[in-house]
Amino acid sequence: MIPYGKHFIDQDDIDAVVDVLQNHNLTQGPKVPEFETALCHYTGAQFCTTVNSATSGLHIACLSLGIGTGDIVWTVPNSFAASANCALYCGASVDFVDISPVTFNICVDSLKAKVEQAKELNCLPHTLIVVHFAGTTCDMQSIHDICRKYGINIVEDAAHSIGASYREKKVGCCEFSDMTVLSFHPVKSMTTAEGGAVLTNSAELNQKLILFSKHGITRDPALMTSPQDGPWHYQQIALGFNYRLNDIQAALGISQLKKLDGFMEKRRKIAQRYFDELAHLPLTLPSAEKLLEHSWHLFMVVLNIHDRSDVYRQLHNRGIGVNVHYIPIHTHPFYQQLGFKTGDFPHSEHFYNNALTLPIYPSLTASEQGKVIESLNSILS
Ligand SMILES: *Cc1c(COP(=O)(O)O)cnc(C)c1O
Repeated sequence: MIPYGKHFIDQDDIDAVVDVLQNHNLTQGPKVPEFETALCHYTGAQFCTTVNSATSGLHIACLSLGIGTGDIVWTVPNSFAASANCALYCGASVDFVDISPVTFNICVDSLKAKVEQAKELNCLPHTLIVVHFAGTTCDMQSIHDICRKYGINIVEDAAHSIGASYREKKVGCCEFSDMTVLSFHPVKSMTTAEGGAVLTNSAELNQKLILFSKHGITRDPALMTSPQDGPWHYQQIALGFNYRLNDIQAALGISQLKKLDGFMEKRRKIAQRYFDELAHLPLTLPSAEKLLEHSWHLFMVVLNIHDRSDVYRQLHNRGIGVNVHYIPIHTHPFYQQLGFKTGDFPHSEHFYNNALTLPIYPSLTASEQGKVIESLNSILS
């Protein structure tokens, strides 16, 4: 079976992990800060706090912004559940803004209309979490302009988009947001097995991110409420979590990050070939306009006339592990219990009902991709 996505591990990655096992601390050693510095370098952000998953990262991003009971957080339905769950963890409530049927990212016009309505009703969101779906960056300038006008914070869920750029700067630089959250789950663009990071340019937010990811405990005399009893002294000054990444994971991350631009090049080449060889079929391809800015975490097509479930089954029968992204968050039973209904966000639902995720990953061979294209040709024409 050709999967839709796959991590890429080489001997350098293995050596980096073995080196930690043989020569370093397994946690709280030098590799975590080294990885954080490397991520700042790569993205252009000033501060980075690594965490054990993007889900944890989204949680502490919300906590650091002070999100709590009574607050409202908006995100898009067309994402993984973690993009919305993080607000609920903090006691806030969640609402959604539908996607654009063209970019499959948050629809800026819907956002604008919803914000104006919320202003009238005095229920503006505290924070907007945007998702750069599949690796296409959102229209951050417009989103930033709208949110700044109404005092809404912005968090970028960039689980799909490390390696992507927006206006010649890397995703993660936080030029148009308060924080950006990355994921290093194996199916994402680079991996630490499980892992994530939160990037920001705010020293104040970063201090909170560090606290919340480490039990709320500090050893920084400047943060402690009394003079230190001695060099061993620490204080818990907030209720935090153990969300740390470990040094084995960080060593893998450092090694993977060095290869990220190479991964991006391979993904772009695969995307280019899909554009070239699928254009005549009755399906909607992603926008090719931003081919070079896109991280191509996912390559999605929308079927125009064929039944998606049927095409999915036929491809699986031929050994092609296409996937479907995403079951809209508001249609999950848990969210339906909160009052959301199918039909609430029609563009996300239409996309879900007709989209297919084709295989794309650095080690996908030309002949494997040829098989995907050939199968689509024979099923759809
Ligand atoms: C994968 C993913 C997450 C969660 O990432 P983890 O590191 O697995 O916690 C969050 N948001 C989006 C959009 C994702 O695709």
